[in-house]
Amino acid sequence: MAFFASKKYDAVVCGAGPAGLMAACTLGRMTAGARRILLLDKKEPWKEPIFCAEAVSRDRLSALWPVDPSFVRGPLSGIYFTSPKRYRAEFYSKDCGLILDRARFHRSISDGCAAAGVECHYDALIKKLERTGDRWQLSVMAGGQTEQISAAVVIDATGPGCRLTRSIECLQGIESGDADLEPAIFAVAEGIEHSREHIELFFGSEFESGYGWIFPRDGVEVNIGFVLGKDAVHQGSLRQKLLDFIARDYPQAKVKAVYGGMIACTGANAKPFAKGGLFKAGDAASCVNPISRSGIVESLLCGKIVAESVKDWLDADSQANRERAEAKALARWMESLGKSHVQLARAKDVFNSISDKQFDRAAKRLSAMPREKQTLFRIFFNVLWACPSLIWKMRSFLH
Ligand SMILES: Cc1cc2nc3c(=O)[nH]c(=O)nc-3n(C[C@H](O)[C@H](O)[C@H](O)COP(=O)(O)OP(=O)(O)OC[C@H]3O[C@@H](n4cnc5c(N)ncnc54)[C@H](O)[C@@H]3O)c2cc1C
Repeated sequence: MAFFASKKYDAVVCGAGPAGLMAACTLGRMTAGARRILLLDKKEPWKEPIFCAEAVSRDRLSALWPVDPSFVRGPLSGIYFTSPKRYRAEFYSKDCGLILDRARFHRSISDGCAAAGVECHYDALIKKLERTGDRWQLSVMAGGQTEQISAAVVIDATGPGCRLTRSIECLQGIESGDADLEPAIFAVAEGIEHSREHIELFFGSEFESGYGWIFPRDGVEVNIGFVLGKDAVHQGSLRQKLLDFIARDYPQAKVKAVYGGMIACTGANAKPFAKGGLFKAGDAASCVNPISRSGIVESLLCGKIVAESVKDWLDADSQANRERAEAKALARWMESLGKSHVQLARAKDVFNSISDKQFDRAAKRLSAMPREKQTLFRIFFNVLWACPSLIWKMRSFLH
């Protein structure tokens, strides 16, 4: 018996993370049953563990998907910026963010996909993708056998690394999504004193070209981890480095599990992310914020933009109009977040050059101020004040 409802689809979305789920749901809703749309992933999107600290801005999320308490672990009201000597500045803003339960969040969008008429399979490993004539051919391992299907359009939302599409010759020149992968690792742990409404970020050479973090989960457990720059030098394994950090700073902590992942921090180079009916979305299109490394809302937005362009592509009556639809995906992304990511990517080197001493000086000054005076502007100003050389370096990206 055939595993898929059809051998031929208008659009196949590869990967059911935030980017693929959002792309499939948007496309399903926009085409209202008039197109055959297939969403594939090798695992159920709600299957734990999900390699993520799960923090998002409430406003930016709710602009893209209705916030429902069923997939929220808790609200956030601020960020602690902590220096190497553990001076702590606090940015306070009531209800500014959310810690999601990403597994449940994915299920909510997946339900939206099914309701919009998208055919979803979450036990389907895409093994190969190739261009034949004017269609894309996919080899998919599903239901214990390899199936061949074809699509007019493919959305690659398979996350960082882009193994599926990086060696396809006709895609040369588009965003490869496989460079500048930054290693990230975290533990789920108990016994760490923390504020349930704050995330805490640790800066300094210990987390070279990246940062450490504690994100609350349910009031008892925390997500504690770090991301390092792609060229960061570290002795021993990342896992050991994390366990050493926890043992030194939180000797009472009980580590329940450790997970590692990669963050696609190619950082916005304005390369096209669509060609020949192949569109990339989310981490596969390097849409992660280059400094904060947040990628959930970014992937949702990118998935939505890509789906809207795919709809135009499918409706187009000429090759020129299809190419226009492909170009529009990048233009819309650049307008919404892409341009600011390019600026942040340039500022990243400057930020990475701040010394431990400079972080300590800035955080110490800020920590002496009352909380209501610790606005993001003051935090930024104080970091600059502690490192005058940055003002000079920053000229290059402010212009
Ligand atoms: C440790 C860590 C912490 C993070 N914390 C945060 C945070 O707090 N806030 C934030 O905003 N961002 C965070 N991020 C970034 C965020 O997780 C990603 O940017 C986001 O998940 C990207 O979504 P995506 O849909 O592009 O890709 P993914 O979420 O990676 O989804 C890709 C999907 O494709 C599937 N897939 C891949 N290959 C195949 C194949 N061949 N066949 C079938 N299926 C396939 C995978 O199974 C997966 O479900 C973090 C990342 C890491 C690594």
